[in-house]
Amino acid sequence: MPKIIGLYPGSFDPFTNGHLDIAKRALKMCDHLYVAVVGNPNKNSTFTSEERVKLCESSTHGLGKKVRVVSFNGLLVDYAREIKANIIFRGLRAVADFEYEFQMALINRSLHKQIEICFLVPNEKFIFLSSSAVKEAAKLGGDIRGFVPPAVAKALRVRYAQSPNPSSR
Ligand code: ADP
Repeated sequence: MPKIIGLYPGSFDPFTNGHLDIAKRALKMCDHLYVAVVGNPNKNSTFTSEERVKLCESSTHGLGKKVRVVSFNGLLVDYAREIKANIIFRGLRAVADFEYEFQMALINRSLHKQIEICFLVPNEKFIFLSSSAVKEAAKLGGDIRGFVPPAVAKALRVRYAQSPNPSSR
């Protein structure tokens, strides 16, 4: 039986427990899962792509050897071809995600006819969780340990403790 290769792309700026929930679910549906950090997101990222990769690695370490964290630049479908991915996984939180994700899925599939795009729904406790909300809370000194893996909580603490003016980041 050919192996099913899954690709879970994102900015992961930083990786949250919502992302981890989706990665675990995706792993049930494939033999190998690439968690792929977008190297050049359109938005200004808080963490560099190297930092984001490291945080994804420590966050997914417990999922075993079937998960590999990579970083890529350029078109997602080109990267999917390069690693011979069969399925692209994306998470859907609320209706708000749907329109953008649906549009991207259709564009990606028209560029790569063999790829399947699979939307996964997280545990409801992560429905309202986003990297930006976690960063906002961390900036203001909130306890974000329930929202992100321990390595990410530590990195956020360090990042915002260093900021002379928390509102400037
Ligand atoms: P993007 O790739 O659009 O910059 P992210 O890196 O934040 O966004 O997220 C990557 C993927 O994970 C997207 O499909 C996003 O919808 C999904 N995702 C983000 N946060 C959650 C969450 N709390 N629960 C489920 N899926 C999520």
